[in-house]
Amino acid sequence: MMAPPHPETWLRTRPEGLWCEPGGFFIDPRFPVERAVVTHAHADHARPGMGAVLATKETLAVMRARMGEGRAGESQQALRYGEAISLNGVKVTLRPAGHVLGSAQVVMEWRGSRAVVSGDYKRQPDPTCAPFEPVPCDVFVTEATFALPVFRHPDPAGEIARLLKSVALFPERTHVIGCYALGKAQRLIALLRQAGWDRPIPLHGALMKLCLLYEELGVPLGPLESATVKDKARFVGSIVMAPPSAIQDRWARRLSDPVPCLASGWMRVRQRARQGGVELPMVISDHADWPELLATCAEVQAPEIWITHGREEALIHALAQRGQRGRALHLVGLGDEEIEDEPGEAA
Ligand SMILES: [Zn+2]
Ligand SMILES: [Zn+2]
Repeated sequence: MMAPPHPETWLRTRPEGLWCEPGGFFIDPRFPVERAVVTHAHADHARPGMGAVLATKETLAVMRARMGEGRAGESQQALRYGEAISLNGVKVTLRPAGHVLGSAQVVMEWRGSRAVVSGDYKRQPDPTCAPFEPVPCDVFVTEATFALPVFRHPDPAGEIARLLKSVALFPERTHVIGCYALGKAQRLIALLRQAGWDRPIPLHGALMKLCLLYEELGVPLGPLESATVKDKARFVGSIVMAPPSAIQDRWARRLSDPVPCLASGWMRVRQRARQGGVELPMVISDHADWPELLATCAEVQAPEIWITHGREEALIHALAQRGQRGRALHLVGLGDEEIEDEPGEAA
């Protein structure tokens, strides 16, 4: 019997992105291609104008909501977690990535060799999406956004408790949390509900559509309302959610004595919070931190770890000490959605 082919012979980088040659498809391509498998609907992974798109039902729904029906792929095929499909003889399965609703790792098997592309992922529990499932493989493809030992995300419940303490301390002010529209906003709302916050949560217009879609897809978020600022007094004592870019702009200044908060893994870096004028930084991230990256690479038992983007040097060094070979792919176009996830909004 022939030895299984090394994934580097059938999974390659091209200008469009990661290319599964025998399967004839790209994963999260940056440019329009004939056939794309999409890990999740963040704007740096899911782009408009593809031919055929394969993804989870939830990812496809978010893509349609953001891009408009016509631009989210000429044809769409939904695959459930764990369901297998053959694309030109390559077996493709999606497994939960624990990142945002519908996010998936792409598991590819070709002639006895297995590669897993994780997209973005985290290991902390998230009430709004299915938890990450480690899949043993020959090559594991990971991101490295927070691949430095300084990045250790605390328990999100503790961060929410800090917020609620501040709200209790300053009842005459309005707390405004900056968070991106897909995933972070809904996770924060769900965490607030778990902590017992049952008041209506006012939302900036840019967040409403995806919150309603999450509810439609079976993620309950409790009472939400539109934060159209006409009556300053109305939102006093409230926790208002807005995109990060809005917490400092004219929109937020119309609120009554706003407290700018920002929920991001980058809030671990004090300077970043100060620069952004953030009064209450919350370290809540949808990306794996340093211990989660190392634990995940160990769990999947892959002799080789390919790194799409981020702080690859520290990770490659740490992996080498653990007997795993790291390789930087330097994929272009994968952005910093922790701060801003700018979609190609249709409306
Ligand atoms: Zn993402
Ligand atoms: Zn990403």
